[in-house]
Amino acid sequence: MIEYGLKISAEGFTKGTWGNISVRDGEYVYITPSGIPYDVLEVDDVCVLSMNGDTVYARKKPSSEYMMHLEIYKARPDVHAIVHTHPVFSTVVSICLKSIPPVVEDAVMILGEELQVSDYALPGTIELACEAVKALGKNNCVFLKNHGLVTVGETIHEAFVASQLAEKTAQIYIEALKIGNVSVIPYEHARVLREKYLSSYRQK
Ligand code: 13P
Ligand code: ZN
Repeated sequence: MIEYGLKISAEGFTKGTWGNISVRDGEYVYITPSGIPYDVLEVDDVCVLSMNGDTVYARKKPSSEYMMHLEIYKARPDVHAIVHTHPVFSTVVSICLKSIPPVVEDAVMILGEELQVSDYALPGTIELACEAVKALGKNNCVFLKNHGLVTVGETIHEAFVASQLAEKTAQIYIEALKIGNVSVIPYEHARVLREKYLSSYRQK
């Protein structure tokens, strides 16, 4: 988790202390503490919560978005890692658009057919958690309105790569909208690509 905290900082997905990362292992959720810069984060700073939100271990206050992480794990048994960041292009999408249609192969395969922007809710609330779960659906990415990005995966590496792809796709789509005449992958092809990724593309 510390390694991936440094990676999201190095990618510029988050400035200062913003964003948070969690991993689910059985009944326990390991989550980054609130408001600590990633470059000083120590292993003992990582908090451990139970699935009902009780603190199992915490030397520091757990992330203010812990409810969003727990609600996503409850709704998605396939998800074992979550990365929340505030990247520039994803945030522009969250401010200006309702969704990103299927425009590029890698995003469709790894993230989903149509990538949704959630309805707005105050950060750190159960309302934000519910909006995030609703707009995430079965996808591996959701843009939080006027806020940022959440990506999920079976592993922390998969959730991190999903953040890289979501941000790349947001940038591509914004640039494409500036030129206009945007073409979209036929939805029946998008479905085939996504199903192929989920059923057979990944190495076991
Ligand atoms: P934490 O520092 O509490 O994890 O929260 C940052 C953030 O991104 C809130 O939405
Ligand atoms: Zn945030």
